[in-house]
Amino acid sequence: MKGEKKKKIIKTVKIDVDKCNGCRACEVICSSFHAAPKYSSNNPARARIKVIREPLSDIYVPVYAGEYTPAECAGRDKYTIDGKEYDECAFCRASCPSRDDFKEPDSGLPLKCDMCEGEEEPLCVKVCLADALVLEEREEEVEEDQEQVELEIGLESLTKKHGMQKVLDAIARMSQKEDS
Ligand code: SF4
Ligand code: SF4
Repeated sequence: MKGEKKKKIIKTVKIDVDKCNGCRACEVICSSFHAAPKYSSNNPARARIKVIREPLSDIYVPVYAGEYTPAECAGRDKYTIDGKEYDECAFCRASCPSRDDFKEPDSGLPLKCDMCEGEEEPLCVKVCLADALVLEEREEEVEEDQEQVELEIGLESLTKKHGMQKVLDAIARMSQKEDS
């Protein structure tokens, strides 16, 4: 019924950019976990996490793939933190038209972190020996129909961008992978 609440576990990964050394193990394990079949290959371009690396400036920023967006921002921001200047779009999690990040290289479909669904601990957290990624969990009450609304908004955006047939084909491929 609309308005009813249910409990939901919210998983948060705390990111400490000062601890990240840019080793990219998180990208490798993520792409490998999502390969079909699992662990059969790895290609960081397919990872749902991307490490912004500028070694000469000692900048390493792990960024998780977030929502798909059909339009790019009208403006750009640059951040200066502790004397280091971060590029425009550096912290942005969106799969957006202005860049290639967080897009499946073959199909162009957006990639989004799924917290390694089914795994107790996200694999990127597990492999990060520098403790730059730390998992925290908390329980929250959410509206019963909130997840359904989010799903519908996501599907509507995808069909607008790629067309219904391409989205249906991708879903069919994903369900084949799950069955195998
Ligand atoms: S595994 Fe950890 S230290 Fe290595 S790049 Fe990823 S976040 Fe940084
Ligand atoms: S939590 Fe899992 S899906 Fe998300 S970036 Fe890390 S390894 Fe990839």
